[in-house]
Amino acid sequence: MSTKRYKYLYGPVPSRRLGRSLGLDLVPFKTCTYDCIYCQLGRTTEKTVKRAHYVPVGNILDELKEALEAGSSPDYISIAGSGEPTLHAGIGELIAGIKQITNIPVACLTNGSLLFMPEVRQELSCADLVIPSLDAGDEQLFHYINRPHPDISFAEMVNGITEFTRSFSGEVRLEVFLLSGVTGITVEAKKIAACARQIDPDRVELNTVCRPTAEEFACAVSRRQMDNLALLFPGKVDVISDDKSESTREYSFQSAAGADIINLLARRPCTLAGICSGLGLHSQETVKKLKTLIDEKRIMTSYINHDIFYKISEKGRL
Ligand code: SF4
Repeated sequence: MSTKRYKYLYGPVPSRRLGRSLGLDLVPFKTCTYDCIYCQLGRTTEKTVKRAHYVPVGNILDELKEALEAGSSPDYISIAGSGEPTLHAGIGELIAGIKQITNIPVACLTNGSLLFMPEVRQELSCADLVIPSLDAGDEQLFHYINRPHPDISFAEMVNGITEFTRSFSGEVRLEVFLLSGVTGITVEAKKIAACARQIDPDRVELNTVCRPTAEEFACAVSRRQMDNLALLFPGKVDVISDDKSESTREYSFQSAAGADIINLLARRPCTLAGICSGLGLHSQETVKKLKTLIDEKRIMTSYINHDIFYKISEKGRL
């Protein structure tokens, strides 16, 4: 990966589910149909259901081509980023364009809220993997956790994900994000599991807080409780392990690149291990670079579950 700061492309980021994932960002920062209390990007600034060509598809493809030609070889190209990617009205055109450039599988991480629209289901049909979210088992907790746009109802959202999963020929992994004292309890997890049974994905992935969240009251479920709750869900169920697994990856010796670190942290807070494995950097070099970025007030730290996470500051976004 070059040290160039791309506008729409980031990483490869260390993904607990996708290995090394080269991310494509389709919408402006925090443009989303939801405002989840656990969002690692902070509160939503543009809550909308308006689909539009937020950024030019051609420019995204140009950056991707450039990165692949420069030697980037991710396990997945993932469409995700700083908001809800299906809000981009050209997502189908983008996936078709990627398929013309490379055979690397394409994953789309979506909150699933727009899958009730036939055109969105059609546009995602050429992806290889789609990971929709389901974080609540009823309308009330859906509103508490996801704080959706008023035009989105819980039933419509669940039915949309179900309809998509039935018609999609690729793999669907349903991500369920559990919160301590909210959905991380048996009675609520059972309701979510009933919806998961209706959706019938290839796998269920249970996740919980491991990075700083939009609201401090969104807290992690213990690993032991996650394992217990996993038994309630149908089919193949994975409990996503924490970010410490990233530290086992091999790092190449390469000088730390401030622009790439800023680019990565603009999308998601990361631990030192996450930054190193995602960007292929050596930890000692990276520590020095992080110290410089902190001194310049372009990044800051926060603690969660006894880990230090680095995240971008307002100044770093400029
Ligand atoms: S977690 Fe995803 S769906 Fe929820 S507010 Fe953040 S970007 Fe939107």
